[in-house]
Formats: sequence, C-alpha cells, structure tokens
Amino acid sequence: MYLKIHCDYCGKSWEVYPRGDVLRLIKEKDYRCPHCDAKIDRDTWEEMIYILHKTKRINEKLASDHVNKHNALFAVSFIADHLFTCPVSDLDIPDGCPNID
Ligand SMILES: [Zn+2]
Repeated sequence: MYLKIHCDYCGKSWEVYPRGDVLRLIKEKDYRCPHCDAKIDRDTWEEMIYILHKTKRINEKLASDHVNKHNALFAVSFIADHLFTCPVSDLDIPDGCPNID
C-alpha cells in the first residue's frame, strides 16, 4: 500500500510508503515533487499521510477479519478518477500550471 502522486507541473510521479509513524512522515520533505520541487500544500500533505496510514490500518483489519473470523477478504485502495480538472468553477488557478484548463 502506497500513495502514488502525480505532478502535473513536470508530468512525473513518485510514491510515498507508510513507513514509520504518521508524524515522522509528515515532517519529511516528500511534500515536494522530487523531480521539479513543486510543493504540495502542507495541510493537504498532512491529510494525505493520515489517509494513507488509516487505509493501511483498514486493510490490516480486513485481512485480520478474514483470517480470524473467516469473513470474505476485502482490500481498499484509492484511485483518482479525475486528474487536473477543476471541481470549483471559480477556482483561482495560479499562473505556471501548464496543464490545467
Ligand atoms: Zn514535478
């Protein structure tokens, strides 16, 4: 389980794994694109890390329920169903974002 983050600014991606504890990962500098140094908003980064760790725990619980309670095995993942479309029509898109309509 990991986050795959796509940077539309440079067109490249990177992965973030839920290693260590949540607070340590939040303090790391993965909130910047390792390819072009574009920055993710700090609050948004924290939300992403919490969701990553929460999803990891949910999948561990689902696997445990399968083994211990013989429930069907489920796994949860999050997949972006849209990329770089503006959900808010009056969003102020900053200059320098080449691929946002
Ligand atoms: Zn980038």
